[in-house]
Parts: sequence; structure tokens; C-alpha cells
Amino acid sequence: MIKNIALVAHDNRKKDLVEWVKHNRFKLIGHNIFATGTTGRLISEVLDGVVSLKSGPLGGDQQLGALIAEEKIDFMIFFWDPMTNQPHDVDVKALLRMTVLYNIPTACNRSTADFLITSILFSDQEYRPVKRDYESYLHREVQKNID
Ligand code: PGA
Repeated sequence: MIKNIALVAHDNRKKDLVEWVKHNRFKLIGHNIFATGTTGRLISEVLDGVVSLKSGPLGGDQQLGALIAEEKIDFMIFFWDPMTNQPHDVDVKALLRMTVLYNIPTACNRSTADFLITSILFSDQEYRPVKRDYESYLHREVQKNID
């Protein structure tokens, strides 16, 4: 089953992600890979066919968030840097929020990424995350100020 995979890493974690991709490249071949710009450029050196979006701080995180909202991403590996302030911290938060909202499996460190990629749900099966029902939210009462 072909998966749509999002890959992102902050600068201090890019080396770790490239190393992980290299280590798992035979498992990743044939899947659709989407990455933020700079991460994508580096990953393209070890894996063909990566779709590179804009650089994260220039809108790439938001592009990935939009793909998740459109239900076009199956899981995400996001090695974010726990030791450095990011100028686009709000975008990072928004992206991670989307993964929770849409129940997308997300790995923020190597060991979780290892668990994801070795899961039987990755290799053998179509996995459809259970969606929460937002109908009542969509149909909530809101005040209208129409004269
Ligand atoms: P980058 O973006 O891959 O373009 O560096 C990563 C990020 O979201 O910070």
C-alpha cells in the first residue's frame, strides 16, 4: 500500500533525519514523500522523487498542514529541535496540531520513527485513522450580526 509520508527536520536534526532516511531507503522507495524545502533538498541526495515544498519558515510547514487537512498525508516524521528557538514556532505548533486533529501518526524522534516504519500497518495494510466527528462543532450555534 503506497503511503504519503511527510518528512521535516529542523536544522540541528537534519543530519539525523537524512541518516534515518538512508537507513530506511529501501522501505521508503515507492512511497510518496513530501518534505519542507531544505529537508527535501538534503533527502533528495539519498532518495529519488521527493516532493519539496517551501522551506518550513517560509510557509512549508503550513503547506504540510494544509495537505494533512486535505487528508493527503498518512504519517509524518518531524524531527524538531527541542533546544533551539524557531522563528516559525507558531507554524510548528500549527503543524503538530493538525497531526493530532486528524489523528496522523507522527514521530518526533528516531525511536518512534523506527517503530512506525517497522509497523505491520506501514508495510502490509491500508490504515485509515479513526476520525473524530466534528459535526456538532460544524453546526454549532453562532451569533449572526446581519441587519
Ligand atoms: P526546512 O524547514 O526543511 O525548509 O529547513 C524545516 C522546518 O519546518 O523548520
